[in-house]
Amino acid sequence: MNQKCCELLKEVIQKECKDIRLDNMSYNEDEFYYEFKSDKQISENDFERLENEIKKLDKNIYVKLLRISGVYFKGNANNEMITRIVGKSFSSQDDLNEYNKFLEDAKERDHRKIGQDLDLFCFSDYVGAGLPLYTPRGTIVKDELQKEIEKVCKKYGFQKVSCPSLADISLFETSGHAGKFNEELFRVESLKGHKFVLKPVQCPHHTQIFASKLRSYRDLPIRYMESDKQYRAELQGAVGNSLSRVYAITVEDGHSFCRRDQVKQEVINMCNLIRDFYSRMGLWEDHWVSLSVRDYEHQEKYIGSKEDWDICEQMLKEVSDELGLNAKRCEGEAALYGPKLDFMFKDALGRDIQIPTVQLDFAMPKRFGLFYIDEKGEKQTPVMVHRAVLGSYERFLVLLLEQFKGVLPIWLSPVQVNIIPVNIKYHDEYCKKIKQLLEDEDIRVDYDDSKEQMGKKIRQSNIMKNPITLILGDNERDNDLISYRKYGSEETKSLSIEEFLKFIKDEINKR
Ligand SMILES: [Zn+2]
Repeated sequence: MNQKCCELLKEVIQKECKDIRLDNMSYNEDEFYYEFKSDKQISENDFERLENEIKKLDKNIYVKLLRISGVYFKGNANNEMITRIVGKSFSSQDDLNEYNKFLEDAKERDHRKIGQDLDLFCFSDYVGAGLPLYTPRGTIVKDELQKEIEKVCKKYGFQKVSCPSLADISLFETSGHAGKFNEELFRVESLKGHKFVLKPVQCPHHTQIFASKLRSYRDLPIRYMESDKQYRAELQGAVGNSLSRVYAITVEDGHSFCRRDQVKQEVINMCNLIRDFYSRMGLWEDHWVSLSVRDYEHQEKYIGSKEDWDICEQMLKEVSDELGLNAKRCEGEAALYGPKLDFMFKDALGRDIQIPTVQLDFAMPKRFGLFYIDEKGEKQTPVMVHRAVLGSYERFLVLLLEQFKGVLPIWLSPVQVNIIPVNIKYHDEYCKKIKQLLEDEDIRVDYDDSKEQMGKKIRQSNIMKNPITLILGDNERDNDLISYRKYGSEETKSLSIEEFLKFIKDEINKR
């Protein structure tokens, strides 16, 4: 059935785009894929029309087109980027309806809907697709995440650095990125003759901070971290009003420069860091780990020597065994410069999202001529371990919002306490006093002093998923009390102001 559907999709696309140069069909039990190269832009908005066209060709076919993305032709990074449409076929209208219902449920969890409902981020046609704008509320969430990840990484020996978004193209020529990811680079030129590249990764910049001083073997490992924007020229049809695929990605990235005898301990250190952070976030349970190794048929795709690759792959396998990560070996998934451990989570549709990663790299330090002085006073090349823990903030938010259905823990919530007066005429002053008191304690507070009725304000507070809602009336004002409800509970509790302050601070400190 999937084969038949794929053929029909091909027929429809070929009618639609008359300039197809390359194409490829594939399918498995679950889904079918049609990949093609055309100048005509097709997006998800065209799916319904394309499904109807397929239906016209064969009315016994029940098809759902699922997504569109950019891929390398035949999966080979040396080939051109082409467009891939993924679809799914069903044996009856009932099955298709049921699947649509599943998609409806998933929509409720969809980060795009939650992001809009909770006013976290937006997109603008003027700014462009694939370029998310974080609102004040969304920026609070992002900043809190950054504070948290930096706090955890500091415990594991990382120091914060800060690099510009631009670099001379020679930086990426030396690192190998310009050659391998040429089509994904944004090039920036000026009329004054500047020729820059917007950084697609931050490793090359970090190598230059390492190289800025003479390093001794006693200084290693040296670990840098940075949360900053990176830019990748994704296929135009593949980006939209979603955080899943964007041109400007905010990446929490880090690199360790170490001696060969330290590499294994470094990888263990980073895996522990990843476990630590995801456990705090309540996300650790639902994941699997990929041991991403070379594509053995096409070793020319990678940089570095075969011996180094063998050592690296073996070492990651040992770490996986020692830490009980149960990593699944995935051939052809390695990075350009070395094998890696990738930690996979699930989005609302049950699809894998790869976020944290630990990658070994013997090649880049050699290409940049990095060195340290060993015990004997001789120059040695350090090893680089690349790691992302929070990874892309955008992708991390997809995971977080879809897993928690937008109910964020109180320390991350844009508003931690929302104050509602029973009657604004009589309780306005007391509400303002409490608001000030909480703000003085660095708690993020909203005061709903609109003209709406109390019941409506409480409902609205729930829609915004505020963790704590205060309801203040005569009793509270006359006795210096605070009555509050937790999100998702109908129960109202009362505490003295002092007790409430202690309670709320404890709640905010919880991880
Ligand atoms: Zn890196």
